Amino acid sequence: VAARTVRKPGSEVRVDGIVKTFSGDGPAALEGVSLAIAPGELLALLGPSGSGKTTLLRVIAGLEIPDAGRVFFGATDTTDVPVQRRGVGFVFQHYALFRHLTVFENIAYGLRSRERSRRPGEAEIRRRVGQLLDLVQLPTLASRYPGQLSGGQRQRVALARALAVEPSVLLLDEPFGALDAQVRKDLRRWLREIHRETGQTTVFVTHDQDEALELADRIAILNRGRIEQVGAPHEVQDDPASRFVMSFVGETARVAADIAGGQVWVDGRAALRAREDWPEGPVDLCLRPWHLTVGGDEAALLGTVREWRRTARGTVAEILLDGSDSPVEVKVTDVHRKGDRVALQASEARVFPRG
Ligand code: ATP
Repeated sequence: VAARTVRKPGSEVRVDGIVKTFSGDGPAALEGVSLAIAPGELLALLGPSGSGKTTLLRVIAGLEIPDAGRVFFGATDTTDVPVQRRGVGFVFQHYALFRHLTVFENIAYGLRSRERSRRPGEAEIRRRVGQLLDLVQLPTLASRYPGQLSGGQRQRVALARALAVEPSVLLLDEPFGALDAQVRKDLRRWLREIHRETGQTTVFVTHDQDEALELADRIAILNRGRIEQVGAPHEVQDDPASRFVMSFVGETARVAADIAGGQVWVDGRAALRAREDWPEGPVDLCLRPWHLTVGGDEAALLGTVREWRRTARGTVAEILLDGSDSPVEVKVTDVHRKGDRVALQASEARVFPRG
């Protein structure tokens, strides 16, 4: 019930052709990024270190001014609107709570610092902060100081503080990055619930693919200042647009192969029939471990069993495919021994031309 009154529809956020360079001679941090985030969407910016995730988030926030390109919140061009007027809420990895203020005062801070005409009265502030404390499940900690909270609790206070001003856009930069694995997992589930309740347009930065896959409605994958793909988790995982996306999201076995005469050749053997739309010549054949099965008598990929082990969910073999330099884990039904040669069938595969 409390949550319903917090709900306020989020804005659409659109960035168009964003370029941002920090130093004159180096490569640009963002090299022409365009992206539309739907109202109420939970979008992850995923990519390796230095790919431009934080810079893009800061451009959306108004903390960085782009060299070129525009930022829109709904129909409004906010490119030149200062950060205080954009209606954004932030949470950073290192929760910058005010240490000398209680949890209550931290959450109330944004409301109290509004200009007079927009500042709610004391009773209204109490009501709003109370609701938010319920929402982030910390109703009894209002009078504590940040130093008396766990990391996960502090992060929840930081989120409540960001939500207090009813931002139309919520921006989270590795919000759970500094926390241990279990707390992170709990907070992820909880963020998903909060998002469902508040419906705010939310953009969060992560370099953790599991976090992105588990939480996001859609994922934008950045590499060297460019977006390589934007899609739902199943799209980026099952239909990666580039070799980079394929190797960055989800496990992949990469096999050096050649396509000629309708066959995919690995180490001089025809291992797979080539699809008609696959290019002739040297390629990387990319396979998801969950598309591989051991056995069958068609022309097959070959590999060597490195290890195998039983688990509660069945037996798993670690197999090094011929033409590949890192092993993959495949579920198996037969008993195998270390060193066994096995044939594998791939129900799906992707190829990318090798340069
Ligand atoms: P990480 O996951 O490590 O935080 P990121 O994907 O968020 O990385 P950014 O922080 O956006 O990447 O950085 C993109 C590029 O811009 C990097 O090469 C970085 O060194 C550079 N950069 C970012 N901020 C600044 C700055 N204030 N001054 C100079 N260079 C910067």
